[in-house]
Amino acid sequence: MGLMRQGIRTLRNALARREVSATELVETAFKEIGDDPLGAVLAMDREASLEQARAAQLRIDQGDASPLLGVPILHKDVFVTRAWPTTAGSRMLEGYRSPFDAEVVRRLDQAGMVCLGKANCDEFAMGSANQHSAYKPSRNPWSPTRVPGGSSGGSAAAVAAGWVVAATGTDTGGSVRQPASLCGITGLKPTYGRISRWGMVAYASSLDQAGPMAGSADDCAMMLNAMAGFDQKDATSLDRPEEDFTRYFGASLVPAQKHDEALPLKGLRVGRPKEFFAEGLSPGVAQPIDSALKTLEAMGAVVVDCSLPRTALSIPAYYVIAPAEASSNLARYDGIRYGHRAQQPRDLLDLYERSRSEGFGPEVKRRILVGAFVLSHGYFDAYYLQAQRVRRLIAMDFDSVFESCDFIVGPVSPTVAWPIEGRSQMDPLAEYLADIYTLGASLAGLPAMSVPCGFQIEDSLRLPVGLQIIAPRFEEARLLAMAHAFQQQTDWHKQQAPAQTEKRGVAI
Ligand code: GLN
Repeated sequence: MGLMRQGIRTLRNALARREVSATELVETAFKEIGDDPLGAVLAMDREASLEQARAAQLRIDQGDASPLLGVPILHKDVFVTRAWPTTAGSRMLEGYRSPFDAEVVRRLDQAGMVCLGKANCDEFAMGSANQHSAYKPSRNPWSPTRVPGGSSGGSAAAVAAGWVVAATGTDTGGSVRQPASLCGITGLKPTYGRISRWGMVAYASSLDQAGPMAGSADDCAMMLNAMAGFDQKDATSLDRPEEDFTRYFGASLVPAQKHDEALPLKGLRVGRPKEFFAEGLSPGVAQPIDSALKTLEAMGAVVVDCSLPRTALSIPAYYVIAPAEASSNLARYDGIRYGHRAQQPRDLLDLYERSRSEGFGPEVKRRILVGAFVLSHGYFDAYYLQAQRVRRLIAMDFDSVFESCDFIVGPVSPTVAWPIEGRSQMDPLAEYLADIYTLGASLAGLPAMSVPCGFQIEDSLRLPVGLQIIAPRFEEARLLAMAHAFQQQTDWHKQQAPAQTEKRGVAI
C-alpha cells in the first residue's frame, strides 16, 4: 500500500524510527504528483515545502513526539497562506499573496504538518464537481473521466490517489463530505463555530466550516485536535473547553454503559430518515448504504426509522441563503480593494464592471445575481427571510430526531461520481439537487462525516460510496468514535484507487 495511504500514525511511527525522513516524504510526494494528472493541485513550491520539512525533521530529531509532526498535507486553496499564492480557484485572485496565514494553516503548521501546496477547488467553493475551478477541472482517481466531487475536489482526489496523507477542506453545503464520498476517503464537517474561519476566503459566512479530509476517522480526529479551538479573530468561533477527539475510541458510546468488545455500538440508537432513502437515491448507492446499516446493527446499534420532513426544502433554503451571503461577501472584489483589475478603464463604473466580468466565472456570477435579487428591496421578505425561517424549521427537525436517536445515518450523495462531460457543465439545477443529503446538516450547523462504505460496480469500474453520519452539535468525539468503530469492522477505507496501486505505489 502506498506510504501516504497507511495513515498518520503509521507514517509518524516510520518518521520516529527514522525509516523515512520528512524531507524524503516531500520528495516522494512531489514525484507522485508529477505533472498533476488529476488536476488536484494549484500551487506547489518545492523549496517552501522542503523548508517546512527540514524544520519538522529538526523537531523529530530533538525527540518532539507531536502526533502530526512531519506529516504531509495539502490545503484547499481557500485558506490563505503566506508561502503559496491563494486563488480560491478564481481568476479574480490570480497571483494573490496573503500577508498572513489562515488560523487553520497556522495551527497545522504549528503542529508540524508539512504543507505540499494548495489544492484545487471550485471557484469560491461554489460547486459539487470541481469543474468550476477557473484553472483546471479536477479528476477522480477511481476513474479520471469522472468528477471527484466538490468543492474540495482537489483535496479529496489528492488524498485518494495517495499523493498526500491528509488535506483540509471547507464545507458550506457538503464540500467536505461529498468529495470524500465520491473519492472513497473520510471527511468531517464539524459543528459550525468549532474551527476558526479566520483566513478562509468567505463564501457563505453563516455556513462555511473547515474540516479534515484523510484516510480514516482516526486521522481526521487527530487533525481536528489541532484544527479546533477558540479564536478571538473570528466572531463566530465558539469558546469551548479543549477536547481530545480520540477519547471515545474503543470506549462505550453510551454513557454509563460498559464497553463491549464484541458489540462496540451496543445501545446506540441510529436514525434512518426515510427522506434520505426516497426516490432519487440511485440503487447503486442504496445497496452499500443498506449493508452498512446491517453492519452497524451487527455491531450492536439499533437502527430506527425516523423522518426529516423538510429535507426537500433544504435545497431552496440553501440556494437562497448561500448566494445571498456570497453576493455580500464577494462585493469586496471590485478591482480596487481586492482582486483582478481591468486594464485601461474608461471610468470608475467601467473599472468595476469589467474587473468583475473578467474576474468571476459563470457559476459565481449566477450566484451573485441570485443573491443580489433575493436581498433586494421588495423581495427580501419573500425569499431571504422566508429561507431563514425554513432554515430554523430544518434545524428543529434534526433536534427532534436527536431526542430519541444518537446519530442520523444515510447516504452523502444520491449517486456515485458522474462523468466529467456530464450534468455539471450543462445544468446548474441538476448539480444543486445532488446536494440534497448534505445541506440539512449545514443549515442546522451540525457535525457530519462521510465514511467509505462500499462501491458501486459499473462494468469493471469501482466507484466509492460514502455513508453519512450526522451527530448533535459538539458531539464530534462520539461521531468520530462511531466512524472509527465502523472502520475497525470494515476495510472500505483501506481500498486504493487504481491509479495509485498500478503506477504509483510506494511501499513502506
Ligand atoms: N455544492 C454546494 C454549493 O455549491 C456546496 C458547496 C460547499 O460546500 N462549498 O454551494
